[in-house]
Amino acid sequence: MTMIPLNSLARHVEGMQAAISRAAVEVIASGHYVLGPRVVAFERDFAAYCGVSHCVGVANGTDALELALKAVGVAPGDTVAVAANAAMYGTSAALAAGARVAFVDVEPCIGTLDPSGLRRLLESEPAPKAVIVTHLYGRLARMDEILRLARDAGVRVVEDCAQAHGARAADGRRAGALGDVASFSFYPTKNLGALGDGGAIVTDDAGIAAQASRLRQYGWTAKYTNTVPGGRNSRLDEIQAAMLSVMLPMLDGWNERRRLTANRYSQEIQNPRIQVPPVAGEDYVAHLYVVCSPERDALRTHLTACGVQSEPHYPAADHRQPCHGGRFADIVLPVTEMQCEQVLSLPCFPEITDEEVESVIDACNRF
Ligand SMILES: *Cc1c(COP(=O)(O)O)cnc(C)c1O
Repeated sequence: MTMIPLNSLARHVEGMQAAISRAAVEVIASGHYVLGPRVVAFERDFAAYCGVSHCVGVANGTDALELALKAVGVAPGDTVAVAANAAMYGTSAALAAGARVAFVDVEPCIGTLDPSGLRRLLESEPAPKAVIVTHLYGRLARMDEILRLARDAGVRVVEDCAQAHGARAADGRRAGALGDVASFSFYPTKNLGALGDGGAIVTDDAGIAAQASRLRQYGWTAKYTNTVPGGRNSRLDEIQAAMLSVMLPMLDGWNERRRLTANRYSQEIQNPRIQVPPVAGEDYVAHLYVVCSPERDALRTHLTACGVQSEPHYPAADHRQPCHGGRFADIVLPVTEMQCEQVLSLPCFPEITDEEVESVIDACNRF
């Protein structure tokens, strides 16, 4: 039996094979391979797409988060608030910046940072230096409330947009243009994905952008002048920038197709044992389509038997990961911990066929 895949990069790349091959050949002949003219061009176009004035290309999304934290002034010993349900990305970045982490619980099912959890944190402890807000699964977090709380407390807001390229708020502003600074990943499976690793930091603040571009290259203010502490090598390749420039004009169309599939699932999966996320508009770009079920493992077994791939995103909360050696053993995050047991992603990618979508719906309804 051929399985309906969670995602298919082979199908995704097939349609643009000729264009990306041509772009790669041009880079090879150009004599520029790292931080050259193609990176500059992509940075300009991606900043314009996001609706901000600056974009700094970096090596991957985790570096983008770490350097964004440093660029807004997070220093060793500072605290960073973060949700614990996004596969350790934010937590790793905060720890790599030398910060302490303060975990905040998330909203049921949709899994984005719970503003009331942030409010409680701000009431009970000295304010963190920054909060990382992950637009999890491609859905914008409740930014109005989070921004109001953060502004009142003097907390910097770092948006993690690695799953949310192109998502739009009701006023038309895109993910990445809402907080003080934002990070993106261009890992191949992301909504905008290169053919290798890549990432970016975007911001409207010229000072933050300048600091980020120093941090990505050894903390240099001039060649071989290492001025900024915490700098290192995190650069974007010309090949990846060229690939991304070919793909950027297609992003909105891909997101539309992802959202169409997600909304069909939310309307047509009707099973009291499966909780679906709400039908969504442009604030959700369906990076992952995630349902919740108290019988998650049985649902997964059933789907596999029906020829449908599925996967929990994510199965373990950050504060329960073994790398901490029990440091966070006392911390309890009820919604986060329950979701780790219940979440399951269904196949959702731009090239999925109508027949496949119908088979997934049918399999869920037969559970
Ligand atoms: C993928 C991802 C990252 C990390 O990006 P890499 O390029 O793999 O380092 C960070 N945050 C979120 C939410 C992600 O999905």
